[in-house]
Amino acid sequence: MPDLLIQASLPELALIVLAFFLGLTLFNVPIGFALERLLPRRRIFDVPLAQGQYRFELVGNLVFLAVAVTTFTAVLSSGLVRFGETSLLRDGLTFFVMLAGFQVYYYFLHRAMHHRALVRFHRWHHRSHVTTPLTGQSMSFVESCAWMIGYAGMPLVMSYVAPIGFWGWAAYLVVNIGGNIVGHANVELTRSVTGIRWRSISANPFVYHALHHARWTGHYSFQSSIMDRLCGTEWKDWPVLLQRVMDGQPLRSLKERADPS
Ligand SMILES: [Zn+2]
Ligand SMILES: [Zn+2]
Repeated sequence: MPDLLIQASLPELALIVLAFFLGLTLFNVPIGFALERLLPRRRIFDVPLAQGQYRFELVGNLVFLAVAVTTFTAVLSSGLVRFGETSLLRDGLTFFVMLAGFQVYYYFLHRAMHHRALVRFHRWHHRSHVTTPLTGQSMSFVESCAWMIGYAGMPLVMSYVAPIGFWGWAAYLVVNIGGNIVGHANVELTRSVTGIRWRSISANPFVYHALHHARWTGHYSFQSSIMDRLCGTEWKDWPVLLQRVMDGQPLRSLKERADPS
């Protein structure tokens, strides 16, 4: 861990953590809105937002940020995480294990939150039927806490298998947070549909998760389709709908379907 963080008092550490999470939010949200504005012919859903959507999403973001800042301040000040010397190998491995681990964790967390017993904690995120750059971090207190298990609990446990790299962890969070915020924008950035089902194993087009918000079931993965494909929860018609969006024909109903062939 950098000396700056080791030597910081608790309030200073909390301020640094706040600057990290709030800074990434304030950096990525305008990018998402700018993309929606700059690419009107790549709009995914041509369906109006819910009344007061930006307002409740903003509240959800504040809840998420409060939970994230509290969690990371507590975890970093506890001294429980075992950090190794900075090296390309250690930080690279930390990054890629987080990348894979978070996807598996998020998939099962997300599926669990769609169970009748837990869905009340996930409803806040689904108040956004059509997504915006503010949707990604718009969630309830309980769901925010569950995300912290993936963001902070997982690397903490990993560090007892082998000491982790601080910068690999931080870099993964930068990528995850940016992807989550911008990836909820109601706009499609994919350039071509050719081979998209294979390419989605590394990264999904934005239409992919937009369909989860519209349909409620299926597409529990966010970053890539791999877990949905392994577990049989992938919608078969999404490449056709993606093509429509890329042809400048936004989806005009949340119920829009296509013949998968
Ligand atoms: Zn969901
Ligand atoms: Zn979402």
